[in-house]
Amino acid sequence: MVMDSALLPIEHKLDEGIPLSREDGLTLFRTPDLHSLGRLAKTVKERKSGKNVYYVLNRYINSTNVCYANCSFCSFAKGEKDAEAVRMSADEVVAKALETGTNFNQIHIVGGHDPRQLSLDYWLPLMRRFKALLPHVQLSLFTSAEIDYLARRHRLTYDEILSQLRAAGLDNINGGGAEIFAPRFRALVCPNKVDAAHWLEVHEVAHRHGVASNATMLYGTIETLEERVEHLIMLRESQQRSPGFNAFIPLAFHPDGNKLSHHGWTSGLDDIRLFAVSRLMLNNFDHIKAYWMIQGLKVCQLALEFGADDMDGTHGSTDEERIYHSAGTQSGQYVDDREFRRLIEEVGYVAVRRNSTYETFAPDWEPEGRVPAGAGAARAAAV
Ligand code: SF4
Repeated sequence: MVMDSALLPIEHKLDEGIPLSREDGLTLFRTPDLHSLGRLAKTVKERKSGKNVYYVLNRYINSTNVCYANCSFCSFAKGEKDAEAVRMSADEVVAKALETGTNFNQIHIVGGHDPRQLSLDYWLPLMRRFKALLPHVQLSLFTSAEIDYLARRHRLTYDEILSQLRAAGLDNINGGGAEIFAPRFRALVCPNKVDAAHWLEVHEVAHRHGVASNATMLYGTIETLEERVEHLIMLRESQQRSPGFNAFIPLAFHPDGNKLSHHGWTSGLDDIRLFAVSRLMLNNFDHIKAYWMIQGLKVCQLALEFGADDMDGTHGSTDEERIYHSAGTQSGQYVDDREFRRLIEEVGYVAVRRNSTYETFAPDWEPEGRVPAGAGAARAAAV
């Protein structure tokens, strides 16, 4: 039963399949009736994906943290001469990926706007190498902010650059860099990063080239509720124009070591509400992802009751995620796939292994074929 009567017309629209309005979005962010909000989101999520909750065996790498964009929420970026600067050679990136073995389905790499590493000369051969070594592994590379940087650097249109990246094996673009689309927010927080129109355009062009993608929203700093709602509606309209987004991922601000530290941590209630509202507003997105690295595993389990149907990936790494670890996350670097299945099944859902584009696999699926030299080094060392 809905306790807040303001939710009744929204429930009616959801039952009729009518997209929610800006006013509905604000009502959802403001309702004190969190339980009904969660119930509505859970109902909508189960209409889409039933009891399935997805996870991926993947390898996550931040290949460079060199960046001069100077976003004020960022704790990750370093200058080239900084002692903490990390800039991997292509050989190092391949070696990191192969440490994982061969039984994984996604390589996820994002990095800074590094003037040396973020170039086609570095990436195209590396992508072809990955595809030759690990043809079953999907390449989930870059954010659209990085692709915009690449395009400007090489003086190519989005169409031209995405055509080259697709031909070299790009399967999926990661969802970062969206932050909050409102010009007011971007001018204050990330003035040197791609603007909203271009962020969306990169994704729309990518989708037309057969490259899938995800989308995000950074919440918990200076944004207003109106700006959050507008952000969600802009994503929904973009998906309408050029379908290809698979998942939406709410990104909670982390305050350690950046210029917005005074905003502190988001609350668990804020986090849960974000999952539910995004599930309800984004009627044309198939998946809402609770990213354990950011939210922690227990909040992610709770998020499954509030509209999320994905928990991201194992990461298969001991030290590679730097973005959220620089900003204070208490999460580790790796979750075993058996643990994912236990966490999902413990709260009444069915754990489903996937790749970046949501093709599904049996839990014990393994690739066929030869094992590349160096594969499984980390695993062998750990035994
Ligand atoms: S958020 Fe990304 S673009 Fe902004 S400073 Fe950090 S690494 Fe650079």
